[in-house]
Amino acid sequence: MQKVADLHVHTNVSDGTFTPEKVVEYARMKGLDAIAITDHDTCEAISPAILAARDMAIEIIPGVELTAELEEDEIHILGYFIDWQNKVFTKKLEELCRVREERAREILRKLAELGIDLKYDDLIDIAGHGPGSVGRLHIANLLYKKGKISCVRDAFTKYIGNNSPCYVKKFKLSPKEAVDMIKSVGGVAILAHPKTINTEARPLKDIIGVLVTEGIQGIEVYHSDHNAKDSREFKEIADEYKLLITGGSDCHGMGKKEVLLGKVKVPYELVEKLMLSCAKA
Ligand code: AMP
Ligand code: ZN
Ligand code: FE
Ligand code: FE
Repeated sequence: MQKVADLHVHTNVSDGTFTPEKVVEYARMKGLDAIAITDHDTCEAISPAILAARDMAIEIIPGVELTAELEEDEIHILGYFIDWQNKVFTKKLEELCRVREERAREILRKLAELGIDLKYDDLIDIAGHGPGSVGRLHIANLLYKKGKISCVRDAFTKYIGNNSPCYVKKFKLSPKEAVDMIKSVGGVAILAHPKTINTEARPLKDIIGVLVTEGIQGIEVYHSDHNAKDSREFKEIADEYKLLITGGSDCHGMGKKEVLLGKVKVPYELVEKLMLSCAKA
């Protein structure tokens, strides 16, 4: 049988709800041969996941998801096959997490101005991993837990989404800085979920063209939020620029209706192509 992989998975060291061990257990249940752990600004889940998977035929691909800013717009960049234990790299990630903490406090201050009082300690409680990669999904979950919204999506539309009153930008890397950070530790840099990119000012193809000049090597063509038409469009762009193709569920643990892990499965051949394109190769 053809081997398959899910190349975009979060754990509870960032804003997922599953521990690294639980993620590995789900991966086995879903029949995956490989998963990439791609937490926001942290690689703390990778060693525990590798340890949990050591007696199973599941490969853990070390990854990360970084946030970059392209002319005011937020884009996410995935790094694969990184040397996640590199000291300079982990120092940089720690700094990004420190900025996340400051930003989370700032978002809470903005919510307080609207009469919504949330405690930072409660946020850290809900994140469940001490200070670290704390993010907006944690704030959304806390808003929900405190009965301030009726569903997590509402948190983003009403309060903390990119165009909402309590949105706070975090210190973001330029696309080139994010790409270079990934390549500096032997990784391959892929544009995550292109569907979320703001295309009001210019077509996606042009934006991706710019990102290619900044060193992006591939596109996440398959993603839980992409329909067949989206993926077709992204694949065409990838082919045009001769980019790598990846796909993943972007599972954040227990969703409202289902666990997304394994919902997007890509053939292992794509993983092999990624491997061959690493900065090390
Ligand atoms: P952050 O890195 O703290 O800015 O948070 C980004 C994360 O928030 C994403 O990875 C998603 O998990 C989540 N997120 C962003 N926008 C939305 C949205 N509109 N609905 C639900 N979750 C979202
Ligand atoms: Zn996330
Ligand atoms: Fe993302
Ligand atoms: Fe993600």
